[in-house]
Amino acid sequence: MPSSKTVKDYIRTIVDFPHEGILFRDVTTLFADPRGFRLAIDQLLHPYVGERIDKVVGLEARGFILGGAIAHQLSVGFVPIRKKGKLPGAVISEEYTLEYGEAVVELHDDAISAGENILLVDDLLATGGTAEAGIKLIERLGGRIIGCAFVVDLPELGGRKRIEAMGMDVHTLCEFE
Ligand code: 5GP
Repeated sequence: MPSSKTVKDYIRTIVDFPHEGILFRDVTTLFADPRGFRLAIDQLLHPYVGERIDKVVGLEARGFILGGAIAHQLSVGFVPIRKKGKLPGAVISEEYTLEYGEAVVELHDDAISAGENILLVDDLLATGGTAEAGIKLIERLGGRIIGCAFVVDLPELGGRKRIEAMGMDVHTLCEFE
């Protein structure tokens, strides 16, 4: 009998991580299951079948795991957006606001060519701050973002609305309240 488990069923919740009061949605249990991982990759790609994608961009760190698998499936290149100070070549940077303080993400300045069609990937959309910074980096290099795909949406935190307000197509596989 084929399994009827959904992507959401493979995601584990860890209470009080990384701080007290936080319910952390742990996708390592999804990635570790061969059927779950395949299901997530197939569903993330589903809306973009037939569209031209030149590169997949993944946000550090779990976006690398998903983005690498998607890029391999499409036989296109993968490009990482990393936290400050991790990329070895010349970079462009974007600062964004976290719950407490600020963070910076970076992209190699030659990683995307103007006019390339880009699929942006991460595991989870919360406030949308990380994705917004990533979108700005890609657009500064002239990339054309055809979609932003995430496994999990936390709708109460408003990320989807924020990213859609930037004119983006947002694709998510499941929600947690
Ligand atoms: P945002 O910038 O949208 O507020 O937060 C999203 C970023 O934080 C993503 O890169 C995501 O990996 C990480 N993140 C925040 N909360 C969680 C969580 O509960 N589970 C996982 N897997 N990642 C989270």
